[in-house]
Amino acid sequence: MTGTPIDWNAVEKEAVDLLSRYLQIDTTNPPGNETDGARFLQSQLEKEQIESEVLESRPGRGNVLTKYCGAAGEPEILLLHHIDVVPAEAPKWYHPPFSGRVENGEIWGRGAQDCKFLGIMQLMVFLLLKRRGLEPEKHLVYAATADEEAGGIWGVHWLMEHHPEKLRARSVINEGVGWGFPSRENNLYFCQVAEKGACWMRISFEGRPGHGSLPHGENCLLDMARAVTVLAEHDFPAQINATSRQLIEGLAPEQGLMPPDRFLELLQEGRAHEVLDSIEDDALRGLLVATLQNTAVPTVVQAGGKSNVIPGEGHCEIDCRILPGSDSEKLKQQVHDILTVRGCRNFTITFRGEGLSSESPTDTQLYKAIHDSFLENDPRARVIPYMSPGATDSRFFRDRGIPAYGLQFDLSVEEVQRIHGHNERIGVNQFVLGIKVLYDTIRKCVYS
Ligand SMILES: [Zn+2]
Repeated sequence: MTGTPIDWNAVEKEAVDLLSRYLQIDTTNPPGNETDGARFLQSQLEKEQIESEVLESRPGRGNVLTKYCGAAGEPEILLLHHIDVVPAEAPKWYHPPFSGRVENGEIWGRGAQDCKFLGIMQLMVFLLLKRRGLEPEKHLVYAATADEEAGGIWGVHWLMEHHPEKLRARSVINEGVGWGFPSRENNLYFCQVAEKGACWMRISFEGRPGHGSLPHGENCLLDMARAVTVLAEHDFPAQINATSRQLIEGLAPEQGLMPPDRFLELLQEGRAHEVLDSIEDDALRGLLVATLQNTAVPTVVQAGGKSNVIPGEGHCEIDCRILPGSDSEKLKQQVHDILTVRGCRNFTITFRGEGLSSESPTDTQLYKAIHDSFLENDPRARVIPYMSPGATDSRFFRDRGIPAYGLQFDLSVEEVQRIHGHNERIGVNQFVLGIKVLYDTIRKCVYS
C-alpha cells in the first residue's frame, strides 16, 4: 500500500466540482427524483470503468449500487448516503438552494451537509483507490439511496426487501446527523453510533358536544389543552446507555460550562435533571435532554370546526422519540398514567410508526479505524460517540445486527441549524478533511 503520494490539491478541485454539480440536481423529497442524482453518480463511476446499476423502486426513485471487489472475502464495508434532500424555501436563501455555488471556501446548496457531501466523499475514495490500482482484500460496497428524508421506504427499506444481497456488508458508514458544540480547545468529532426510535402517538379525546353559548365542564378541548401542556412540561426519567455514558464522559473535560465532576453527575441516578437545569447553553442542554430521556412533543392539535359549536371529539399528535432499551408500549403506559394523574379524562392513546431505536458497539475495528484516522489528520481531534435524537437509514442495518457509524465533521451550532434550514453549505476544508479521514479509514479496514 505504497505508491506516489496523493495530490490533495487536485483531489480538492475535483471533489468540489463534483459536489457543486451534484448539488445542482434537484432531488427534493417529495417527490424525490433521485434517479437524476443516481445517473450523475453512475456517470462518474463509468468514467473510471467501475460498473454500477441504478435500481428504481418506483419511477424516478433511483438507487445506485456498486461494488469495488477484492480477490476474495465477504463484503466488508458499505458506504451509504441518501440522494434525496428536504424542501428548501428558496426566497430565504442568500444563494439559490440548487446553485451549487462555491464562494469564500464554502460550497452552497440543499444537501451540502445532509448529505450529498458524504456521497461525494465516498465516491472520491472509490475513485482514488481505483486510480491507484489498489485492489482491496475485502469488498467495498457503495450505495446511494432514495427516500431517506421520508423514512427510507423507497430506498434502503425497499432494497432490503427486494435486493438484500446488494446491501450485504459487515458494517456501514453513513451520515451522522448534526450536533454542534460551542468553543473548546480541541476539535470534537461526533461519531453517530446510536439513534432514538421515532413513533407518533395520537391521543383522542371525547367530550359532550353542545352549543357554544352554553358552557359546560365536559368540553374535550379543555382536556386536550391540559394534556398538551402536561406533556410539553414533563421530564421523563433520564436513562443512561453505553453511548450516552461515553458521550458524557467525552464531553465532561471539553464543555467548559461547569467543573467536569459536576458535569459527570449527569450519569448518577436521580441527578441528571438537576444538572441539566444548570447548563446555561441552551443548544447543549436541549441536545442532552434529547439524548438522556424519552421525549413526547405535541406537534398537532385538531378539534372543532365552527365557532359556536362545542366539539364532541378531538385529537392531538405527539412526536415520540424512544431510547434504545425502551419501547413504545412502556411509553404509552407512562403517558397514560401522567395524564390521568394530572386530571385528563376520556382519552385513548394509539401509536403508529416503528419506534426502531438502535445502537452499535464502539469496540469494533471500523470504529477504531475512524477514531485513529481523525487523529492522524487532525492532532487536535477528539472523537466522541453519540446518539442522534433523529433517525437515519442506519437503523435498518443495526436492527439486523450490522454495526453502522455516522460521520460528520466538526460542525458548529450554526452549521447544525442550517441542516434542513436556510443557507445550507459546507466548508471546503471540512469537506477535504472528510475525504482524507474516510480514505484512511477504508485503507485500514480493507487492506492489511
Ligand atoms: Zn440525511
